Amino acid sequence: MREPDGVRTGPASQQGMRRANLALVLDAIARAPRSRAEVAAETGLTRAAVSSLAERLIADGLVVEEGPTTSSGKVGRPGTALGLNPSGPGGLGAEIGVEHLGACVVDLRGEVRVRHRQEIRNRGREPAAVMLDLADLLRGAVAESGLRPAGLTLAVPGLVGASGGVLQRAANLGWEDVPLAAALRPALRAVGSPELAELPVEADNEANLGGLAELWLGGGPEHFLYVSAEAGVGSAIVVGGRLLRGARGYAGEFGHVPVRPDGPLCACGAHGCLEQYAGETAVLRAAGLADVRGDWVALLAERAGAGEQAVLAALAGAGSALGIAAAGAVNLLDPAEVVLGGGYARLEPWLLPAMRAELAARVTVRPWADERLRVSRLGRRGPLLGAAVGVVRAVLADPGRLGAA
Ligand SMILES: [Zn+2]
Repeated sequence: MREPDGVRTGPASQQGMRRANLALVLDAIARAPRSRAEVAAETGLTRAAVSSLAERLIADGLVVEEGPTTSSGKVGRPGTALGLNPSGPGGLGAEIGVEHLGACVVDLRGEVRVRHRQEIRNRGREPAAVMLDLADLLRGAVAESGLRPAGLTLAVPGLVGASGGVLQRAANLGWEDVPLAAALRPALRAVGSPELAELPVEADNEANLGGLAELWLGGGPEHFLYVSAEAGVGSAIVVGGRLLRGARGYAGEFGHVPVRPDGPLCACGAHGCLEQYAGETAVLRAAGLADVRGDWVALLAERAGAGEQAVLAALAGAGSALGIAAAGAVNLLDPAEVVLGGGYARLEPWLLPAMRAELAARVTVRPWADERLRVSRLGRRGPLLGAAVGVVRAVLADPGRLGAA
């Protein structure tokens, strides 16, 4: 992003230019450690400009000098490689699940430094009480990581629109209209972490964050449908390497795609939604395990592995419903792959055959290739990883946000 020849720019646009160039230099260093001369060659900026921008990035703790320095102790000479600072600002991810809480800290390179998951039944609990437990988990994770987070992103199992992180509805939690950041901040202060309460807080639907994690870390293609199934069923639609959010940010409500219009009443008010056939409650009921507490995915895997007929039939039914809904999405969007994530990734041996059969029977462009349906290797960790890594990616995309420019 060099200044065009002959264009005179005022202070405001010069500042904007410097900020853009800062991002350009950091991006080159993030892709691979390299010397100032190599950064200059890579970006087309002058050596002097790169040196000045690199000093700024070093001062802000984003970049460190790696590799050999001279024995006289001189650092910063041309041959010294610059790399991302593993002790620099980190990304803090948080997750509120129906049956768990999560906290994760990644460093600037996206390496997971700390990840905690706490099994806890949040269904029907008051948001304030859940936020206190979450704040405690976050405080511990950040302290253990030794990093200073640049921001916090919260993954939630519900509708989060584009407007300011308000959780409009999370049927499986029983929550409506919860301003997430405003609810979390006092909890962070209450557990003795006023510095975390000052962080920029963003919130997103857990399936969206799981889909982004799949895109960034899962080695997926540019076009895919990510189906996240656990207590609720959601999805992320990735088109051309970007998340499709829809007009108001609510795209991807896969769990409420109708499977049978005359089916059971859903929490959303409609009949026969996918969630009524493939959601936790429906599967456990069908399996004869309606009163189960704790890690029910593990229990289903155990019982299915032991060949328990009712469980096998329940999972085949869920797989079939997932396949019917997925086939509709495939016909509509033509994704390269359908990726099954969330807790259900663990139930692959029992869900996928029925899903594949429905896809093969219903996808219009034939033959359906079975390998287009696969499970995410990130499994249950996807949403939390997506939350934490997203914070770091935002810093790398615009380091001037930290006040550098
Ligand atoms: Zn519904």
